[in-house]
Amino acid sequence: MTEPDVSPRFAADRTLGRLAKWLRLLGADVLRDDRLTAAQLLHRARADGRIMLTRDKRIRTAPDVVYLASHDFREQLREVLARYRFDPCRRAFTRCAVCNGELRIVGRDALRRRVPPFVYASNETFAVCDGCGRVYWNATHPERMRREIAALAAAPTADEGDGGLARSSVKG
Ligand SMILES: [Zn+2]
Repeated sequence: MTEPDVSPRFAADRTLGRLAKWLRLLGADVLRDDRLTAAQLLHRARADGRIMLTRDKRIRTAPDVVYLASHDFREQLREVLARYRFDPCRRAFTRCAVCNGELRIVGRDALRRRVPPFVYASNETFAVCDGCGRVYWNATHPERMRREIAALAAAPTADEGDGGLARSSVKG
């Protein structure tokens, strides 16, 4: 169990893409490499001091692996959050959902030509990925994140979309 204000570090196998994306949005450092098998990724995770998340039954009995039985990413997310508590409101939008790069908060003046005018007008600050350049908005609203998480936890059978978070990003 990690401290509440420390973001745990994970590795997620290639069947857990959506879970990895959500964990990153919540501030967790999640390694993914679709070229690696689960066993290869576990090797990498160990070398890197990461917690391995997997749906691969072949490695489920390893003591340092978290095996997720559910196919549903919400169920998977609930299980991981229950086990490794970190404050999503505090850590949210510190990691890029796509490439796991670190996000930097910038004032909107830097992005005037990169985001739609209505987005520019309604946000004072943005988060920009140092890895891939992706721009996130609604990134500095912990209340919004709290609602997203609450909705996710409460509605396991809601639509299959990624909620408002997915719409908060645009390619840079
Ligand atoms: Zn990125």
